[in-house]
Amino acid sequence: MSDNPYSTAVLAWYEANARDLPWRAPDATPWSILVSEIMLQQTPVVRVLPAWQAWMERWPTPADLAEEPSGEAVRMWNRLGYPRRALRLHACAVAITEQHGGQVPDSHETLLSLPGVGAYTAAAVASFAFGQRHAILDTNVRRVLARAETGIQYPPKTQTKAETALAESLLPPVPSVAARWGVAVMELGALVCTARTPACADCPIAHQCAWRLAGKPAHDGPP
Ligand code: SF4
Repeated sequence: MSDNPYSTAVLAWYEANARDLPWRAPDATPWSILVSEIMLQQTPVVRVLPAWQAWMERWPTPADLAEEPSGEAVRMWNRLGYPRRALRLHACAVAITEQHGGQVPDSHETLLSLPGVGAYTAAAVASFAFGQRHAILDTNVRRVLARAETGIQYPPKTQTKAETALAESLLPPVPSVAARWGVAVMELGALVCTARTPACADCPIAHQCAWRLAGKPAHDGPP
């Protein structure tokens, strides 16, 4: 069971403040969510939006992408940076088409076996596409939890077992609520608890935040 002192406030904040992003729409397909997660790995939302839209128009299913050469994926990747992700996404589309009947698998373990899908992406797709209960730890979530719960300005450079255990301990018990908590705390990190200038005055958990309550002790700098 979860003992999450932040979830009510963070979920209410998310309800009122979440960005309206197409991969969060109720009719977003698992494939469109997987594409967004790979694109967002190293690229900001504002640059991902047009690229994601063009990609989904051209390749609305994994099979559509799998039947084209991988070079086309790289060409479409355009200026998103780190174009190896385009090759991995193409390899993913081929694996989904050939081994999973063209459907993005809903099992966390099977998602992890896809090319280029690591722990974060598998948890994000299982949660956001299939409403499952998994700890999702991206840089935004790690920063919020480091500050609010651990009382430090920045999380360690490399993700630790303690961070995973903390994120798991905070997961609400109902899977659909856990999935929403995951995206909500991520959004809080992206919009309010930012790396350099957290807007604590606008934060729904400011009265509970260990780092703020300790007077915001300085750290060496963002990781
Ligand atoms: S109070 Fe400030 S530092 Fe703490 S979680 Fe909120 S925005 Fe982040």
